[in-house]
Amino acid sequence: MRAFNGDCEVGFVKLSSYAGTRSSGSVQTVMGLEKDLRDRHLIVVEDIVDTGRTLHFFLDHLRQQNPASICTVTFLRKPEAAEFPVAVDYVGFDIENRFVVGYGLDYEGLGRNLPGVYQLRE
Ligand code: 5GP
Repeated sequence: MRAFNGDCEVGFVKLSSYAGTRSSGSVQTVMGLEKDLRDRHLIVVEDIVDTGRTLHFFLDHLRQQNPASICTVTFLRKPEAAEFPVAVDYVGFDIENRFVVGYGLDYEGLGRNLPGVYQLRE
């Protein structure tokens, strides 16, 4: 966000597909968008793309609202875990197929405040 020059509105959407460290197989919108997205330019910022299910589902959902454009950004991506075709325009880091916490990422609600990214001990 700090790197974006210009006026923009920021919205938060909560989607969950994880129970513990395993993808539960379905995506549910827990907290949705309230704005009308028609003719708007959207930048979707993800924390991590694993199977791609969440982003795939969410992009479908957004396209139905006829935005002017959609760009996708993710902090982390696990290429080996990919199951759903989803193009990410900007990727911070590709990582191994391991469950990670910290720097905003949680494990059952905990760990988001850790200053770095850590792999959970199995
Ligand atoms: P996907 O739908 O791509 O399989 O999973 C994406 C979502 O699952 C992410 O937005 C994140 O909430 C969660 N997730 C996937 N992998 C990890 C991980 O390694 N660590 C954490 N904390 N969450 C993950």
